[in-house]
Amino acid sequence: MNYRHAYHAGNFADVLKHIVLMRCLVHLRRKEAPFRVIDTHAGAGRAHLDQAAASATGEWQSGIARLFGADAAPLPPAVADLLAPYLEAIRAENPDGTLKVYPGSPLLMRAMLRAGDALIANELHPADTAALRGLLGKDKACKVLAEDGYRILKAMLPPKERRGLILIDPPFEEPGELIRMTDALKGALARFQTGTYLLWYPIKDEKPVARFQRGVAEVCAAARVEPPASIELLLRVPRNPLILNGCGLIVVNAPHTIHAELQTILPELVKRLDDNGKGTYRLGPTQPSP
Ligand code: SAM
Repeated sequence: MNYRHAYHAGNFADVLKHIVLMRCLVHLRRKEAPFRVIDTHAGAGRAHLDQAAASATGEWQSGIARLFGADAAPLPPAVADLLAPYLEAIRAENPDGTLKVYPGSPLLMRAMLRAGDALIANELHPADTAALRGLLGKDKACKVLAEDGYRILKAMLPPKERRGLILIDPPFEEPGELIRMTDALKGALARFQTGTYLLWYPIKDEKPVARFQRGVAEVCAAARVEPPASIELLLRVPRNPLILNGCGLIVVNAPHTIHAELQTILPELVKRLDDNGKGTYRLGPTQPSP
């Protein structure tokens, strides 16, 4: 386990993932009934952007710093409204408005819990698990686990609330991650068909991504759920498969409002995060193969 998310905290990929996550949680909060959020690969929960890892790469400077902090221009009002829960959670970590700390997915999730909602944050790296326990350990609504992220889904689903969101955000250190995600989704849908699932993936080479999307669409069709939404942000045309050209999220049982919301958000996001005029976004339901 060499991957440490602190090097990438707040980069363009985190920004996209966390915006989609927060919009899905806003949607879950619209009904009163409690829900449970499960973060299978949770990370440390909080990154100090001036500390060694994050400052070594400075990835956050071309990510979240373009939306929040002293150097970020004001957002168009419609975008600001949709990003408010996300940016408020970041402001809670940076009360003077200067960006020093970036909250990871578990802290963002916790910011959206109401009385009666619950969070399970799972992380396998011992240092990150310890950090997460320090952040969430005393909160009765939260439980921190240190197991394999895919394995916990077997034990944790369905949640007793029968409403919930599952983020699957692995490190992509080992080959075969897209296949493991697809298999995990299949097992999870068999246990909890109505859950909202967010699966993050990198876009280096397009071909494995297209295979992954077809596989997920087939799993959804077999589980009798609607074709999932796919939400992608590309910083450049993916011609070089050795670099991170963009990233995407598959959202299974996505809120029906998500496409319209992202059609408002993503043009502004591309404008801010793209440095070379080649950036774009793609939104779509993924279709089963013919
Ligand atoms: N979800 C986090 C966020 O958005 O802030 C980032 C997670 S990071 C991309 C992936 C995390 O998975 C790393 O912190 C890594 O230590 C952890 N990890 C690696 N292998 C794992 C496994 N088998 N089970 C659970 N966590 C694992």
